[in-house]
Amino acid sequence: MKLYHAEAIVLRTIAVREADRVLVLLTREYGKLRVWAHGAARPTSRKRGAVQPFCRSRFLLERSREIDVVRQAEVLENFAVLHADLKTLSLAGYLCELVDGFAPEGQPDPGFYRLLLQALRRLGGEKQELLVRFFESRVLVLAGLRPELGVCAACGNRPAAGYLRISPAQGGVLCGPCQTKEPTAPVCRPATLQVLGKMLDWPLDRIWRLRVDAGTRRELAAVLHSYLCHHLEREPKSLIFLRKLGDEA
Ligand SMILES: [Zn+2]
Repeated sequence: MKLYHAEAIVLRTIAVREADRVLVLLTREYGKLRVWAHGAARPTSRKRGAVQPFCRSRFLLERSREIDVVRQAEVLENFAVLHADLKTLSLAGYLCELVDGFAPEGQPDPGFYRLLLQALRRLGGEKQELLVRFFESRVLVLAGLRPELGVCAACGNRPAAGYLRISPAQGGVLCGPCQTKEPTAPVCRPATLQVLGKMLDWPLDRIWRLRVDAGTRRELAAVLHSYLCHHLEREPKSLIFLRKLGDEA
């Protein structure tokens, strides 16, 4: 019997059989893992609290040929504040869905773990929108998809100042002549490009002091969503749900 410990954030749970759950975990030590939790949905299960979405828990896992199995689980942090309202809960689901989509499976990646933990700890507070934009930007960086903002991503020329289109397919801004080939790529004003550059580089505490006007916030959300959807090859389910709630993420 091969047992091992892992600290993990539960990204999502999948109902299998009556009371069993498959958990998608982002572990600190081993990256993203799928594990089987027998009877975890039973009201009497001692694991029940520790396997809820967004919980940070300590797991004792057993290696198995098909899928590793949860032997024990204990809550470290349950982020109860995230359950206070539906929007916050849906945003937490969105952050976890992005990590599930972009973190590599079975490879340790402490960057994703730190980013998600930092965001979940702050999501119940103020400036949710700024935090979500920061999170989306850093997911792109961690996934190796950082947008090129200095030179045209298609031809390498330095674009003239002004409104620029950003192409997720090309990987960054497009100069005037190259923009005509992608007329549907999202447009950004220079102010938005500047804020995006800071989102990609600055630590969260510096981002917190930024003042961002409504137009810039809209453009930033549009360009980041376009990037994330392009690389996921779909729109995140939680983002569709947030739009139905009447609140853009
Ligand atoms: Zn160009």
